[in-house]
Amino acid sequence: MSRSSELFERAIRHIPGGVNSPVRAFKAVGGTPIFIDRADGAYIFDCDGKRYTDYVLSWGPMIMGHNHPEVREAVVRQSEKGLSFGAPTELEIELADTICDIMPNMDLVRMVNSGTEATMSAIRLARGYTGRDIIVKFEGCYHGHSDSLLIKAGSGALTLGVPSSPGVPAALADYTMTLTYNDPEGLRKAFAEHGDRIACLIVEPVTGNMNCVLPTPEFLSAMREVCTASGAVLILDEVMTGFRFGTHGAQGHLGIEADLTCLGKIVGGGMPVGAFGGKREIMEQIAPLGPVYQAGTLSGNPIAMVAGLATMRIISQPGFYEPIFAKTQAICDGMQQAADKAGVPFTTNHAGTMFGGFFTESESVTNYADVMACDTDSFARFFHHMLELGVYLAPASYEAGFMSAAHTDEDIEETVAAAATAFAAL
Ligand code: PLP
Repeated sequence: MSRSSELFERAIRHIPGGVNSPVRAFKAVGGTPIFIDRADGAYIFDCDGKRYTDYVLSWGPMIMGHNHPEVREAVVRQSEKGLSFGAPTELEIELADTICDIMPNMDLVRMVNSGTEATMSAIRLARGYTGRDIIVKFEGCYHGHSDSLLIKAGSGALTLGVPSSPGVPAALADYTMTLTYNDPEGLRKAFAEHGDRIACLIVEPVTGNMNCVLPTPEFLSAMREVCTASGAVLILDEVMTGFRFGTHGAQGHLGIEADLTCLGKIVGGGMPVGAFGGKREIMEQIAPLGPVYQAGTLSGNPIAMVAGLATMRIISQPGFYEPIFAKTQAICDGMQQAADKAGVPFTTNHAGTMFGGFFTESESVTNYADVMACDTDSFARFFHHMLELGVYLAPASYEAGFMSAAHTDEDIEETVAAAATAFAAL
């Protein structure tokens, strides 16, 4: 029995499903998770000593690769001064200044402890600022696990939603409207009917939670247009995309102006951090400046701040992103060729340093329905072949892959060779 299997048996005794976040449990692909001992650069090592080339990267944060010495040393140095003070530090100012300097549309920023906190707080702020209750989101986008966001589309295109988890009050679903991604007409229609009651629209500017799906230019401009016209707050959830397209976020890359932006993952360099920020007029409504309440015992934690600051320093160096963009393109091209050669219906999407592969006959995947039409059984078998061959992909077909600065051309070649073997074995 492998050490990972032994650990899983132990884990399920006191941890629900053996994991502290459900997608880690391999439920979507079958089998039991590998348990990780350590990580370095592009690799993770399981408790049996096996090395995997990692395209999950802790679900996105590790854009420089794992265990970057500069981040690690900053954390160790800071930890010698104490772990948490619950009072202001200069480090928080430095990180806020850095974020507001490099990200567009960011006048003020508040640090929190996770992406979920960032989106939940941004929504409260948008509601407080507008005095309206309804929020608009898109099917297939994930914004964390707060109640208002665990609502899926109702039966008709323009109905309000239904809870997607027991425990979310049905009454709350009356305030969340879930529309189709990349459907500017549907969006305009919803705002034409309900615009004066809509507090905000929240969206992943490029999705990573229905795998990697890119927005059309028409969709992007429609979002800005309806929000401006109705007075709703446009919240770009850049928890995943933030700092994956350059330091200016997906919004800088795509040329769309957010009113509020949510950050997470990379901004904490691997520590539990989130942030939300944006236009001064809106952010000034947050306590203690304004009446909208939001707080956190560990928010702005000094260890997290130094990890974030070291990360921001490294990714801001000229030329940091270009090689990662090229490797993202290379892995998609290589996987596509391997699939074509094996006669497996397959297509890829990629943007910046995010990518996704889809087992589908369709040539384009542009929304949730397209993603749901993909062959999840083939993905599960492909996933296990790749794992066996030392490549760690996300254990669910609805998750984007991530590239880091630590992945080498040889890593990509080996991964593509493994994919060729895996496709041939399907
Ligand atoms: N928003 C997006 C786009 C995400 O991808 C995630 C997590 O994957 C979240 C919000 C929630 O972040 P967290 O898991 O840190 O709470």
